[in-house]
Amino acid sequence: MSDLLAAIKSVLTDGDVLSGRDATERLAGIWRSDTIQAEIIVRPTSTAEVAAVMKLCHARNQHVVVHGGLTGLVHAGDTRSSDVVISTERMNRIEELDTLGRTMTLQSGVPLQLVHEAAEAAGLMFPVDLGARGSCQIGGNVSTNAGGLRVIRYGMTRDNVLGLEAVLSDGSVVSSMNHMLKNNSGYDLKHLFIGSEGTLGIVTRLVLRLRSALPARHTALVAFPEFSAVLKFLSYVDGALSGNLSAYEVMWPDFFLYQRDKVGGAATQIGDEHPFYAIVESLGADQEREADVFEAALMRAHEEGLLADALVAKSGAESAAIWRIRDEVEHLFKLGQVMFFDVSLTTAPMADYVAEVRARVNALPFDGHFFAYGHLGDGNLHFSVALDGDLEVHRHAIEEAVYVPLRALGGSVSAEHGIGLEKQPWLGISRSDTELALMRRLKHALDPKGLLNRDKIFTYDGEQLPSR
Ligand SMILES: Cc1cc2nc3c(=O)[nH]c(=O)nc-3n(C[C@H](O)[C@H](O)[C@H](O)COP(=O)(O)OP(=O)(O)OC[C@H]3O[C@@H](n4cnc5c(N)ncnc54)[C@H](O)[C@@H]3O)c2cc1C
Repeated sequence: MSDLLAAIKSVLTDGDVLSGRDATERLAGIWRSDTIQAEIIVRPTSTAEVAAVMKLCHARNQHVVVHGGLTGLVHAGDTRSSDVVISTERMNRIEELDTLGRTMTLQSGVPLQLVHEAAEAAGLMFPVDLGARGSCQIGGNVSTNAGGLRVIRYGMTRDNVLGLEAVLSDGSVVSSMNHMLKNNSGYDLKHLFIGSEGTLGIVTRLVLRLRSALPARHTALVAFPEFSAVLKFLSYVDGALSGNLSAYEVMWPDFFLYQRDKVGGAATQIGDEHPFYAIVESLGADQEREADVFEAALMRAHEEGLLADALVAKSGAESAAIWRIRDEVEHLFKLGQVMFFDVSLTTAPMADYVAEVRARVNALPFDGHFFAYGHLGDGNLHFSVALDGDLEVHRHAIEEAVYVPLRALGGSVSAEHGIGLEKQPWLGISRSDTELALMRRLKHALDPKGLLNRDKIFTYDGEQLPSR
């Protein structure tokens, strides 16, 4: 390794490589207490440097894992002690913001929050948004095809990327920095790298699609009398707001009441007795006119019995307080160790599925807490299971309770977090053998030595990994 370390230092302009304790003292991820296991952490500043490092690693059959902001929740960035880490933290330059073409060209290590701030300063918006915005990087968002809070209106990260540059495992550079909305000239290669969790290439630069900034925001916390009303209201309010609906976050009462207790604020004005709650938000251009439309839509839904109660935020501060209930999931750690799930399925069987999973988890031999919430407009449910004790003992049984019922419903074991190591044993629930075989063929074609993020999503040689 010392030979590789010296060679890598020689191809970096400022030789920025962490080794020894400097490398192994870093935490392995957000909400993790263990540290990174790796020989060295390389911190390049350009595509050319990443390519040079990969050429050296390829020649020596050296395994490599890419690290962005390390906010991923499925152990996709985990390393072994013999791995080299390439961290994109210094590839943080916004190269161009084209206000007329509405694109941003940037390096992959720019934190998502800085993408938002740069777009906003130019009167534009990058719509992908998630609770980890301050720590995650745009390259990590792209590599996990992150979803988040506005998918219902703007789609996943995949729908907001126009062009991409990636370094392959042999150090060659695929530059597909398209700036156009339409481009059907052959295979759209960027999609190979979006959502492939660093297994097919290292994303180094991107062209993002920006949208018009929408300064008018209206937020409400609503309560429903039953699940059918949750679904009917979604369809109704989408039409009533003329396409301005940008978030629909549903919370089962266990989650809502626990979080509200921790966060407080105006939400305490809404009753405790309702079976479902949701945050509804519209984004538009005219604050006053749309306030009338928003309130009239809620009023009518209340008169028609779809809503049991509603609280409309009267200021930005009230809106932020409502969102903290949904965003600040770290309060769950006050209950002990926590497992997070993100699954997707069609909305019709959702309430029965949640009830089944809750019953299965409650039947397990521990005294824990089960929470359900999610981006319901996208068919995306989150569960959290918290336990004051050793959760690892029960991990497999809890995962079985969540994932097995999805098979009959045609659901997915990952709506947005990805597979990493964590969900690998369950991938067969959502993907056929033919699909998995094709994924493996793509991996072998792009990374024949299996050097990049080896054994993440599926094992390189087809061996089945046990549940973590
Ligand atoms: C509070 C909180 C809220 C969250 N909310 C959401 C949410 O609403 N929706 C959602 O989808 N996710 C959510 N997440 C999960 C996480 O934030 C996302 O998966 C995020 O996109 C990961 O970005 P990152 O930069 O932290 O990537 P990392 O965690 O560093 O890496 C994730 C994976 O991408 C690979 N990778 C990273 N950068 C590159 C690159 N440049 N090239 C190739 N591969 C790369 C890594 O190898 C790894 O496999 C949340 C996490 C937290 C902690």
